[in-house]
Amino acid sequence: EARDPHQPEFLQAVKEVMTSLWPFVQQHPRYADQALLERLVEPERVIQFRVSWVDDSGQVRVNRAWRVQHSSAIGPFKGGMRFHPTVNLSILKFLAFEQTFKNALTTLPMGGGKGGSDFDPKGKSDGEVMRFCQALMLELYRHLGSDTDVPAGDIGVGAREVGFMAGMMKKLSNDASCVFTGKGMSYGGSLMRPEATGYGTVYFAQEMLHRQGRDFEGLRVSISGSGNVAQYAAEKALDLGARVVTLSDSDGTLVVPGGIGEDLLKQIMEWKNVQRGRLAAFADKHGLQFEAGRRPWHVPVDVALPCATQNELDGEDARTLVKNGVVCVAEGANMPSTLEAVDVFLEAGTLYAPGKASNAGGVATSGLEMTQNAMRLSWTHAEVDERLHAIMKDIHSHCVRYGTRPDGTVNYVDGANIAGFVKVADAMLSQGVI
Ligand code: NDP
Repeated sequence: EARDPHQPEFLQAVKEVMTSLWPFVQQHPRYADQALLERLVEPERVIQFRVSWVDDSGQVRVNRAWRVQHSSAIGPFKGGMRFHPTVNLSILKFLAFEQTFKNALTTLPMGGGKGGSDFDPKGKSDGEVMRFCQALMLELYRHLGSDTDVPAGDIGVGAREVGFMAGMMKKLSNDASCVFTGKGMSYGGSLMRPEATGYGTVYFAQEMLHRQGRDFEGLRVSISGSGNVAQYAAEKALDLGARVVTLSDSDGTLVVPGGIGEDLLKQIMEWKNVQRGRLAAFADKHGLQFEAGRRPWHVPVDVALPCATQNELDGEDARTLVKNGVVCVAEGANMPSTLEAVDVFLEAGTLYAPGKASNAGGVATSGLEMTQNAMRLSWTHAEVDERLHAIMKDIHSHCVRYGTRPDGTVNYVDGANIAGFVKVADAMLSQGVI
């Protein structure tokens, strides 16, 4: 804390992981050797840079951008880029730290990184977004490479932004190898990448429910967010027979007590992805219930899937969910639950999966995109989906292996942290003090 007094999100993430690791490290003292824990919390490299670009009115704008290259112990740095006005170094350091454990959990050889900018794509023209992405790459390109650092999308960075950045990367480096994942299908993207994080989160929740002899069929599900992860989590939950009763954005929550049907979900996806519209206006247009300024967590459900952003579900929200009988909470977003909320779920015996386990399907499929690019071929939708499903089941069993309590229940937080740690730590110990 003395070193990073202004980085609350980073400290929160480190505290959560260390709480799981400490008892494990005491039982396995070799993991305390070589200042391993101290090295693990310190990013290998952080790059901060200025992005100057020209808006549509001819005015010069200046943003700040970063790339946090946290750990390359098990493979090239890998993690998304986030464009949002709230982006700062604390948030990117927490995301890169978490990413390191998540990527280890996928079983694929990927290190951890994250980057982004305080640029706000909302309300910007395509031309402005393109010029910003190109200006950002003028600096970032020298730090990337298919075996060095491979970014992807995150909040505010979808197919459009990845396309602009990957295009500029190729132009500057005169090299078409894979340095971005989440690319369009016409230039090396993988089928299923857009669906992967949302589908993967639901696959993971399904494994948790199966362990208790339950299934999604007929369950009420609340989802927060209405972006990439939320949309596909909703699609897969519907597919498995659940009733999805909410979606949200930073203005409020859309509540559909009878459940969002397939047709309505398609219309919402078109509204968000093509029109780039807001949920409130959509609700207005279709005569649906929109609760301005509220989050989804007061709506009674069996399963909650937070898929928007960090710290969007606090202790009070968690108590309300538990009081209303929630059985399972699986995070599609990164660290959406506060530390207090996590404690509430763990104490209540709710099945609770931290994002680093349940949302790892996105980066796993990015890993599969890298593999396909290296082999210069494309797998079918069904092939990628099958691999994604198998990876999510695998991550679930790693969590069970390291997180089973004496009474047979599973602490998925400990399970995910310890399983991810063991892989990264073994690699670090083998490679000496570097
Ligand atoms: P999108 O930009 O597609 O969607 C983000 C959604 O979250 C939007 O509905 C947005 O609403 C809402 N949101 C963003 N910031 C806030 C905020 N401060 N308060 C309330 N709502 C907010 O991003 P993704 O769906 O890709 O990412 C969502 C989460 O999932 C993030 O935590 C991300 O790190 C995580 N994740 C994403 C992966 C991926 O493959 N895309 C992989 C693994 C994790 P609004 O439009 O109002 O801002």
